[in-house]
Amino acid sequence: MTKRLWSFSIVCLLVTSCGAPFSKPFPDQSSAHLASPHVTQTSTEANRDFEESHFVTDSDANTANAKKRINTLLPVSTPSASTVPSASATPSRAPRSTVTPSSKPKISSRKPATQTEASKRPSVPVQKNQGQIRIAQKKLTLSQLVVKYPETFKLRGSSQEKKIALTFDDGPDTRFTPKVLDALKANQVKATFFVLGSMAAIHPDIIKRIANEGHVIGNHSYSHENLPKLSVDKFQNQIERTEHVLQGLIGYSPRLIRPPYGAINEEQVKWMADHHYLIVNWNVDSLDWKSLSSDQVLHNIMQQTKPGSIILQHSGGADSQDLSGTVQAIGPLISKLKASGYTFVTVPELLHVTKSR
Ligand SMILES: [Zn+2]
Repeated sequence: MTKRLWSFSIVCLLVTSCGAPFSKPFPDQSSAHLASPHVTQTSTEANRDFEESHFVTDSDANTANAKKRINTLLPVSTPSASTVPSASATPSRAPRSTVTPSSKPKISSRKPATQTEASKRPSVPVQKNQGQIRIAQKKLTLSQLVVKYPETFKLRGSSQEKKIALTFDDGPDTRFTPKVLDALKANQVKATFFVLGSMAAIHPDIIKRIANEGHVIGNHSYSHENLPKLSVDKFQNQIERTEHVLQGLIGYSPRLIRPPYGAINEEQVKWMADHHYLIVNWNVDSLDWKSLSSDQVLHNIMQQTKPGSIILQHSGGADSQDLSGTVQAIGPLISKLKASGYTFVTVPELLHVTKSR
């Protein structure tokens, strides 16, 4: 009788246990239940950790080594269902306490790229091509290019000297450039003009006046193209054609280049470096191209100017642009900044470089 009671008890226990999976899965069954919210989230987190570790590496280093490291860490060939990005990355990446190789390898192996793209925009673009996954070469931002090519790409001068440089883009024209020159002359300040080759060819006398009055001339391309979108030949033509026009008018080939919109890519920066040009953008933007009032122009500049600043304004533009505010702001701007102890210099003086190549 006792034996029968024991048998009955064992059968009851087995039936109770078999009912458990329907309400609470066993851990070893989780990976097969990807529809489970918990599992999906875990997988996403694993991939996010993986990607963030690479994003930090890429952003911090800005170097070829960083890219090499990224390419090493990520699988180049098609990952099979069992190929686990986190597993291959784990030995090299910074340890993260929330993700361990043993806890989530099978989960994160499920379609890593797809799940990551669905949950978060990739920090490093992943390209799928003919069954292969590889990391696209990430283009450096302008600020990264400035850091990587400090001898070629400048935004400002030394912060140790209370010197600043006024720069005027997009001239010469007959509407505003002569008025800008008049205002600078009245205030005895020399500035730097980044001119367009096409406009210089149309208004050679104004180019000569700029140079004769002691200002420096830089190259702002021939027809204000967005340089990174051009072929190598067209990009070089924009620079060299302008240089040819200017050389004939002012007697030197400008070393200073300001790309339209400040936009340039790494290949073009390298070309500039190889040919002894200096790329000069700015760290103070007057936003005067928006046809602002003189008060607004003045305010924008005064808010941002520091020792070593390169200030962006315009001396020419489209017919729809009114640069009266720029012209009217010049006098008060110079007075205020001089009163604050600033000295106005040309860009070559600010950066201690030659104006010609
Ligand atoms: Zn421009």
